[in-house]
Amino acid sequence: MALLYAAETQGAAVLFEFLHRQDPSIEIRVWPDCGQDSEIEFVVVSGEAPTDLRRFVNLRGMQSTWAGVNALLNSRDLPPDVPLARMVADEMSNWMAEYVVYHVLDIIRGGSDLRSSQAECIWQQRTHLASKPAIGILGLGELGQDIARKLLGLNFDVSGWVRTKRQFEGISIYSGPGELPEFLGRNSIVVCLLPLTEHTRGILNAELFARMPRGSSIIHVGRGPQLMEGDLIKALDTGQLSRAVVDVFAQEPLPEHHPFWSHPKITVTPHVAAISRAGMGAALILENYHRAIAGRELLHQVDRTSGY
Ligand code: NAP
Repeated sequence: MALLYAAETQGAAVLFEFLHRQDPSIEIRVWPDCGQDSEIEFVVVSGEAPTDLRRFVNLRGMQSTWAGVNALLNSRDLPPDVPLARMVADEMSNWMAEYVVYHVLDIIRGGSDLRSSQAECIWQQRTHLASKPAIGILGLGELGQDIARKLLGLNFDVSGWVRTKRQFEGISIYSGPGELPEFLGRNSIVVCLLPLTEHTRGILNAELFARMPRGSSIIHVGRGPQLMEGDLIKALDTGQLSRAVVDVFAQEPLPEHHPFWSHPKITVTPHVAAISRAGMGAALILENYHRAIAGRELLHQVDRTSGY
């Protein structure tokens, strides 16, 4: 019986060494050298499975090395009744929080204007905003909560939008479509950290932008298809939004002639906010391997009905 590793290979040796050290009885096979299909009990995959996973008839569990599992869930290659877990790791949360905090600070300190002034050798001092902008996080899950805590530590007014209402200390919580307009109306920087589901596809659209205070900014680090790209350009060109930082796109890599590259109010980054790397979440992979073999629920198991 074996664990099949079919995810990122760069750096994977770190993970294998960890697994071997913690439990030398685990037999690791690396895609495409699967051996007998019937011997594979646990699979580690990334964005998409490299093969039809239904061929592993004795599979008991699957672990994604990515936090977002939309591509996997949309694949017909996924056995419908085998538990799937998504990646949750401190390292990933830290990277994401650094990215978002860095761009929030860049927006409020006028980083883009300062860089333009320097390019033209203009000594242009900016006055600071009278008060810090309120920041709203669409999707207050594993990643969103860590960002919220770090922004609270910098004395920002932070609110979050979720599906299921609950309490978070120091954060105003809004839930469901009914409370979205109020959430948007109070925030002049909105960060999107929603998983891609049928309910969040296209959610960053003209109607949403229109509900934000004029001159607001967005930071989009969820998934590309959540953003209506044409609507964003219009909102920026009319001044409804003043800046956008976009890390994820409908088409990746972003095509060379895409208008986002040269738009003066858009910062493009190539899906790097929190990159998965082999070895990340090694303890989670080990724990979920043992849980799967024991027939127990996985940690961070994906709810296939809600799609995340
Ligand atoms: P998570 O823990 O599953 O959290 C998802 C959050 O979104 C939860 O708070 C959930 O609400 C909320 N949500 C989901 N559907 C909603 C809806 N229809 N309406 C309102 N709220 C909704 O996920 P995570 O680990 O924080 O990751 C979030 C996403 O970030 C991933 O799915 C992935 O797409 C993206 N990501 C991007 C990068 C990058 O490099 N750009 C890296 C990693 C992840 P409840 O709390 O009520 O369930």
